[in-house]
Amino acid sequence: MRAIVFDFFGTLTDPAAEAGRRASFAATAAALGVPADVFWGEMAETFPERIVGRYGGTRATLSAIARRCGAHPAEAQLDNAVAAQLDGAELVRPPRAGVLALLDRLRADGFRLGLISDCSSELYESWPATPYAPRIDATVFSWHEGCSKPDARLYAAVSARLGVAPADCWYVGDGGSREHDGARRAGMRPVLVSNAAYPGAEAYRSDPDPYRPDLVVDDLDELLALTRT
Ligand SMILES: [Mg+2]
Repeated sequence: MRAIVFDFFGTLTDPAAEAGRRASFAATAAALGVPADVFWGEMAETFPERIVGRYGGTRATLSAIARRCGAHPAEAQLDNAVAAQLDGAELVRPPRAGVLALLDRLRADGFRLGLISDCSSELYESWPATPYAPRIDATVFSWHEGCSKPDARLYAAVSARLGVAPADCWYVGDGGSREHDGARRAGMRPVLVSNAAYPGAEAYRSDPDPYRPDLVVDDLDELLALTRT
């Protein structure tokens, strides 16, 4: 194996941080002047389209969601809402304990590192400023690509950008969006991160994967041993 392709949320990020998403959305709703529960509902309903870019960037998305909520925010309100949304997005993506050192170690071991994330505009817009960016050789974001997992195009794209054949790639993720089945069909070797130490983490996966890989680790720190066998 020459490359490792990671999922982002719940895999590279701290799975416990997802619990803060509702509060972060409430801050955006307040900035837009719409009820938090209505905003949450519209964001949830539009998720499949938001992550493939149909609502555009964060500002255009929030403007459209506000209208869906029956509000017509002024430009200044929208400015504040974008700031709140980007701040909130940062709060729900802190690195999992030890993950940055692990990525450094894997690269030192000679692996090329890739990313496939089903994500909305916030992660794509903020990526270069994250601590993950300098450690990942090739990124594939659903928002930018216009399709989401388990679409074969995402796996083909990361393989091409890494310059590594799918058969030489591990695919490591916490199992949302049928991502492991997609990886298997793409010819990659899937590894499930069960997040056993994070009770409730499973509840945050969208569209859990019915296919369970043979290779399962409880936490990412076990990956080093796995890749050295
Ligand atoms: Mg995930």
